[in-house]
Amino acid sequence: MARIRSKPDAAGMPISRTQATLEGRPLIQGSLCSMKRFQSLLSVAVLIAIPLGTARSSLAASKLNIVTSTQDPSAITRDIGGDHINVDSIAKGYQDPHFVEPKPSFLLKLMKADLLEVVGLELEIGWLPPLITQSRNAKIQVGANGYMDLSRFCEILEIPTGQVTRAMGDVHPLGNPHYWLDPENGRRMAKAIQQKLAELHPEDAAYFAQREADFERRLTDSEKRWDAAMALYRGRKVITYHRSWPNFAKRFGLDVVDYVEPKPGIPPTPSHTLELINLMKREGIKLILVEPYFDLRTPNAIASAVGGQVLVLLPSVGGVKEVNDYFQLFDYDINLLTAALAKTK
Ligand SMILES: [Zn+2]
Repeated sequence: MARIRSKPDAAGMPISRTQATLEGRPLIQGSLCSMKRFQSLLSVAVLIAIPLGTARSSLAASKLNIVTSTQDPSAITRDIGGDHINVDSIAKGYQDPHFVEPKPSFLLKLMKADLLEVVGLELEIGWLPPLITQSRNAKIQVGANGYMDLSRFCEILEIPTGQVTRAMGDVHPLGNPHYWLDPENGRRMAKAIQQKLAELHPEDAAYFAQREADFERRLTDSEKRWDAAMALYRGRKVITYHRSWPNFAKRFGLDVVDYVEPKPGIPPTPSHTLELINLMKREGIKLILVEPYFDLRTPNAIASAVGGQVLVLLPSVGGVKEVNDYFQLFDYDINLLTAALAKTK
């Protein structure tokens, strides 16, 4: 059941992911080894942190230091916090947020953080909890005032009703964590972040409120544009690789019929791939949406078997260089999607 994915990161460093956890159910095996690894990460981090800490100016100290697990919360936080905060994300938008290789630099970020924002719903369970513990930063421990789980403010889909078992694959037991792909949830995240920033820095409350109002105004305008672009294609059937898109599909009226993964988090199998080809032929489905960190071979093979098309759509800000904020994410995806939907029936 262990998953191995390998993909070079932007710096050309191979990120090998020998994943020994199912979301929500870490396996015992490997925990000793990872503890050792975190201890050595920590000592490296401490060595680097000491000179940094003494050099930090009082000016920088007056700004809130915010760390987010992925780039989507950091993009929204930057819009709300402006130049009165520092914000940085751990995972980058081109990485699979379920699997992130820990690095000493992540610990450094967490050690200095006043606030940690997470997507939650166990999206980050495979990598973030040990980093939080090892940071030894009391402000951001789970349950502390500087730990913010954004899922609590959003509409969550696909919450399993029965018991979740391993046979179901990597089912997220608390519901689907890819919720930021509905702009209404983006609005809720922005509001919650504004309130948290104001709570932590009351002297900047008016500044954050004004920027949040501006964010909402821009979002409302953008939504009109996105809804209009997608309106022509309501009810269109698509296949997606992973279950990253339920909130997006619900909001914009797409019908996600099946997945390239036979079960969430489980790599494609020949038998499921064949079923998909038959399904797509039977129902005339032409479009396969794939997140940028998955292998394209199976999707490409399926597409060529059915005369369809593979579209690499971004689930996150930072998925490509030119997508730097929450608005650009939807602009990019909806542009690609509508162009592809226009070409297929
Ligand atoms: Zn997922």
